[in-house]
Amino acid sequence: MIIPRSHPRYLSLKTREQLVRANRSGIVVPEGLIAHGRGEAFDYILGERTRPSAEKAIEAAAALLLTAEKPVISVNGNTAALVPRELVRLARAVGGDVEVNLFHRGGDREKRIARTLRRSGASRVLGVGKEASGRIPGLESMRRKIDPSGIGDADVVFVPLEDGDRASALRRMGKKVIAVDLNPLSRTSRSANVTIVDNVTRALPLLNRQVRGLKRYNKRRLVRIVSGFNNEKNLIMAVKEIMSYLNKWNGV
Ligand code: ATP
Ligand code: MG
Repeated sequence: MIIPRSHPRYLSLKTREQLVRANRSGIVVPEGLIAHGRGEAFDYILGERTRPSAEKAIEAAAALLLTAEKPVISVNGNTAALVPRELVRLARAVGGDVEVNLFHRGGDREKRIARTLRRSGASRVLGVGKEASGRIPGLESMRRKIDPSGIGDADVVFVPLEDGDRASALRRMGKKVIAVDLNPLSRTSRSANVTIVDNVTRALPLLNRQVRGLKRYNKRRLVRIVSGFNNEKNLIMAVKEIMSYLNKWNGV
């Protein structure tokens, strides 16, 4: 389908098209399409813009990634379809790795995602096939698989579009978790250390820019940014941003 640039919903339609295509090529599962729909609904009531709460979370996320001993960037089907280059760029900028981390494993989807990441510039992709021999304690089946030399050994994990259960299981493993989730009320949002309430398509380029900007800061300054961030308060701010956007319709 060709979407005219002049269409008022051009970006949203282009994103849908990207996901549909990635679904056909075996990178995105049907559940991923549904999850995107839920995200779109929240994006609509955010006004489809990066709000100040997200900017604040992006700054904290960049500082946390830059102070990490071993950061890992977790990649699922949707994010591989939407922002593969940005994910690879982020991993390189913070001295970490990308790891394929899927809620629905099976078939050769993980290999396809790894191929997409390599085509996007990754020289090494963790979490594929036998490499994903580690386990997240407290989770059942395929959902618990991780790479022992990746997420298994990481101190900070960047998990855009993660599931709430797994995000809290990673926290219980003692890891610092950074999530990107348009739903400020989700269990994922509430269980992460830093939640960026924004669309991954907008948040990733901004996060990369922020990482470049903060790179020249010394460690003390970065640590101060991280410790000055309060995720609970920031989520309340995100909800308030939604309310004040919706308030424009009040009395119409
Ligand atoms: P919980 O965290 O409460 O367990 P969930 O796992 O049930 O939530 P799902 O619908 O399975 O939620 O996961 C999809 C999540 O990802 C949704 O909260 C949705 O808002 C978010 N999401 C989907 N697409 C995007 C996107 N492009 N950018 C940011 N967030 C997105
Ligand atoms: Mg869930």
